[in-house]
Amino acid sequence: MLTFDFDAETLWLSRNPDNARRPGVLSQGIYGAKTGVPKILELMREESLKGTFFVPGWTAEKYRDRMDAIAAAGHEIGHHGYLHEWIDPDFPDKEREALEKGLEALKTTVGVKPRGYRSPAGETSQNMIGLLHEYGFEYDSSLMDQVSPYRHILEDGTRGPVELPWHWSMDDAPFALFAIQSPRPIHTNDHILNVWKQEFTEIYRWGGLVNVVTHPQIIGRPSRLAMLREFIAFMRRFPDVWFATGAEVASAWAAKENG
Ligand SMILES: [Zn+2]
Repeated sequence: MLTFDFDAETLWLSRNPDNARRPGVLSQGIYGAKTGVPKILELMREESLKGTFFVPGWTAEKYRDRMDAIAAAGHEIGHHGYLHEWIDPDFPDKEREALEKGLEALKTTVGVKPRGYRSPAGETSQNMIGLLHEYGFEYDSSLMDQVSPYRHILEDGTRGPVELPWHWSMDDAPFALFAIQSPRPIHTNDHILNVWKQEFTEIYRWGGLVNVVTHPQIIGRPSRLAMLREFIAFMRRFPDVWFATGAEVASAWAAKENG
């Protein structure tokens, strides 16, 4: 799965509303919308691949043109909160509110009812998994407890959504998300690519799901797009690798579960 978390400015606003008056900080997110998304769409078209874009409702409302382009190219659009809110289990009402606002935004902008959800920053709750079931989501992609999909069983025993696990090591942000307020080294592309190749190789050997989590504002940098292209070429050298969207993986897994 090649996935793109299209956070744009919400990445910078959700945890620190004061950034609203810092155009320099916000411009990092704007880059993802202005340049990252079109370049990703170009790459995916050239590679004849379909991916999943997880989009906060706020981003969808601000960048309708980009949403139209993503939808027109046939990529999947998933739910990613409204303003990229980090879930706080002490406030379950806020979870429902963000879920509903995000659903409304995806409906009014691109007319999409998302089949999948990824929690902002991987922060989720048992309540949220239940909400996903209540609102008809087929899958969640927020947890890190396996390398293969599995079915959530809710507290009352009901079958919940399919989980499509991910991990920080297959995410571009821990390696290359830079914030001047808390600076840390940006890893080289060689380093990132090495980790990704090694994870891929072993998950391939085990059999499982390689869930590549990227962000247009990070992977959309010129050299990182080249890195992604190289990673795709690397994965293509292995027989029987299926490149698929989250929805495709979830329904394929569910079909096997029932059969
Ligand atoms: Zn995000």
